[in-house]
Amino acid sequence: MDGFIISDVLVAMQAMQKREMKVYYQPKIDATTSRMRSAEALIRWVREDGSVILPGQFLPAMEQTGAIAMLDWYVVGEVCAFLRRLKAAGIEPMPVSVNFSRWHLREEDMPKHLAEIVDYHHVDHRLIVVEITESAMIQEEELMQKTVTQLHEYGFEFSIDDFGRGLSSLSLVADTLPDEIKIDKSLLKKNCENEQERVILESIFLFANRLNIRTVAEGVETKEQFGFLRTCNCSLIQGFYFARPMSEDDFIQRMTDRSLTLEDEDILRIQTDTAAEQMLLQAVYMRYPLIIYGNLTRNSFYMMTYKNFTSTSCPSTGTVDDLIEQGTLSMHPEDRERWHAMFCRENQLRLYGQGKKEFHMITRQLGDDGIYRKVETSNYFVKSPATDDVLIISLCNNFESGEEQ
Ligand code: C2E
Ligand code: MG
Ligand code: MG
Repeated sequence: MDGFIISDVLVAMQAMQKREMKVYYQPKIDATTSRMRSAEALIRWVREDGSVILPGQFLPAMEQTGAIAMLDWYVVGEVCAFLRRLKAAGIEPMPVSVNFSRWHLREEDMPKHLAEIVDYHHVDHRLIVVEITESAMIQEEELMQKTVTQLHEYGFEFSIDDFGRGLSSLSLVADTLPDEIKIDKSLLKKNCENEQERVILESIFLFANRLNIRTVAEGVETKEQFGFLRTCNCSLIQGFYFARPMSEDDFIQRMTDRSLTLEDEDILRIQTDTAAEQMLLQAVYMRYPLIIYGNLTRNSFYMMTYKNFTSTSCPSTGTVDDLIEQGTLSMHPEDRERWHAMFCRENQLRLYGQGKKEFHMITRQLGDDGIYRKVETSNYFVKSPATDDVLIISLCNNFESGEEQ
C-alpha cells in the first residue's frame, strides 16, 4: 500500500474525530403516494470552510485499508442518536438504512455489535436497515448467509444495495431472502424509454414482488423514470427527482412536512400497458382465486393461488396426470367419474383436436376444513406461441356455501 493512501486515511480519521464527518439523509419515497417512508444515511465530509466532500473522494482509500469499518460504526452511532432525538422531539422516527462495507462480513459478531449500539440508544431494531452492496455479497457468499440470518434474528432489516450493477446472483437473493433490494441506477440509464431496459426492470419487480421483497429504485432523476417505475409496483423511489441527500436539520424539516409537493398524476395516464396489465391480473385473481397453467403435451402444470382456495394441500407444480388424480379424489364421490372423464389429459387433448376452445364444469370439492363446496372450473385451450404444445389455462372459482362431509 502506498503512503498516499495511508495519509489520506489518517486525514479522514482525524476529520471523524473533529466531527467533520456528517451524516446526510436522502429520503426514500413511496412510489404510490409520493410520501416519504424511510431514508438512507450517506456520509459527507463537511470541512471547516463549509465545503462538502463526497464519499467517492475519501471512501476508496478507507475501503482499501479497512478503516471504513470504523467509519460505518460511527455512522450507526450518529443515526441512532438522531433517531433518539427525533423521538424525544415528538417526531415519529422512520427507518434509516446504513451502508456497511464488505469488511463487516469478516467481523466476528457484527449483528451482535450492531444490536449493542442500537440498544444503547434505546432505538427500535426495526428502524435500522443494513445495506450491503451486491458485489461484496457475491465475494463473500457463505459469510453473507450467516450474517443475514443473525441480523434477522436481532430484528434488523437487510437490503441488497446496487442490485444489477455487476453480476447479479439470483441464488444470493434466494439464499439470503433480503427485506429489500435496491435497483442500481445503471439499470435506468436509458430513462426507461427503451423497451429492453423496461423488460429487465419489469422482471426484477415481478420476481421481487412474488417473493415479498421490497424494491427501491435508486438514482431516479426524471419524470419518465418515475412514471414508469410507479406502474411496475416498485415500492420506493430514491433519487434527485424528489430529494438530494440533506443535512439533519433539512431532513427534519422535510419529515415534519412528509408529503412532497409533486403533482399526483393519475396512474392510468402514464405508461398504461404495464399498469393496466397489473390491475387486470389483480382483478382476475379476485374473480378466480386459483389459476392453473398446464402444458397438456408435456404433462406439466403450475398453480397460482391468490388467496386460500377450497383445498390448499395440493402441490403447486408437477404433472397434469397427478393433478387430475389428486383432484378426482378431492371431488364428491358422486362427481368423481364425471370430473375425471372430462379433465383427464386424453380427453382434453381430444377436445382440443376437435377444435374446442373452452369447456366449463361445476362440481363439489372437499376443502381442508372437511366441507364440500361447489367449484366452477373454466378451461381455455391456448396454443403455445413458441412450440406446437397444447396449453391450458384453468380458472377456478368456489362458492361459499358448502355441505359437511
Ligand atoms: P449508495 O449506497 O448506492 O448510495 C446512493 C448514492 O447515489 C449516493 O451517492 C447518492 O447521493 C447517489 N444518488 C442518489 N440519488 C441520485 C440520483 O438521482 N442521481 C445520481 N446521479 N446519484 C444519486 P453518495 O452519497 O456520493 O455515496 C456514494 C456511495 O458511497 C454510496 O452508494 C455508498 O456505497 C458509499 N457510502 C456512502 N456513505 C457510506 C457510509 O456511511 N458507509 C459506507 N460503507 N459506504 C458509504
Ligand atoms: Mg446504499
Ligand atoms: Mg446503491
